[in-house]
Amino acid sequence: MRGIRKKNTRPELVVRRLLHRLGFRFRLHQRHLPGTPDIVLPRHHAAILVHGCFWHQHQDCKKGGLPSVRRDYWLPKLARNVERDRLARVALEATGYKVLVIWECTIHDTETLRTSLLNFLSEDGTAGGVAR
Ligand SMILES: [Zn+2]
Repeated sequence: MRGIRKKNTRPELVVRRLLHRLGFRFRLHQRHLPGTPDIVLPRHHAAILVHGCFWHQHQDCKKGGLPSVRRDYWLPKLARNVERDRLARVALEATGYKVLVIWECTIHDTETLRTSLLNFLSEDGTAGGVAR
């Protein structure tokens, strides 16, 4: 286990609780899938990755900025995380999974989160009249 991938983080629990409330069935941390996605919905062929903004370098996000100290330590480390995310995503999509990334900083807006989940998990990619 790589040290940085924490399981059952608070943002992840928020997403799981909401999915559950919406009636979706899901599994956790499926090791047989590339990158061990946080949340997997086998029936939808869907994987949801809940990303911490710092560790996964959320672009244009306050929390995703590069640290100003020990850059020679952090820069390569964070660059590896981003590359690992990219490869996992490509590999997941290659196995027929669709992938949704949810950023830590967006989970407090429950309505938007709900809408993105419903859009993502609806068969045709739209959530039947749910306004964005
Ligand atoms: Zn962010």
